[in-house]
Amino acid sequence: MNNGLMIKERLYQYNCCTDDRCCICDSDTESQDHLFGECHYSKQILRLIEQWCGFRILVSFSHPRTGRSAGAWLKHIVHSLIWTAYYYYVWNQRNNARINFQLLKPGAVAEMIKEDVRRKLRRNREKKYTRVDNTWLQKWGVAIVL
Ligand SMILES: [Zn+2]
Repeated sequence: MNNGLMIKERLYQYNCCTDDRCCICDSDTESQDHLFGECHYSKQILRLIEQWCGFRILVSFSHPRTGRSAGAWLKHIVHSLIWTAYYYYVWNQRNNARINFQLLKPGAVAEMIKEDVRRKLRRNREKKYTRVDNTWLQKWGVAIVL
């Protein structure tokens, strides 16, 4: 796993900061795995999102595949949208904590992620959604007009 995020684990290796502690919880090394998968703050956000969408969010830095069952592609799309938004908003909050010493509550971040996913799904309205797709979309609060 290697991308350009300026996480403290890396900054510390290059002597760019005085410690490598997580900006959010201060209880572990701020690695990418910690920030997006192990940090209690991120875990709370993930739990709220999973309660909303009804499936597990796989924390992975490649696009996940979620099976071939009915509605699988939609689930795959929604999973990707959730993951992208999650990654963006957690990183955003990490920077907010580092720079402004402020942090939104996990529930507020989860709401922003949901709204982001809904907005992107609504933008895809012209796509042909099946009845199964629509059942999912209604569950996610995205009413599609056929
Ligand atoms: Zn942490």
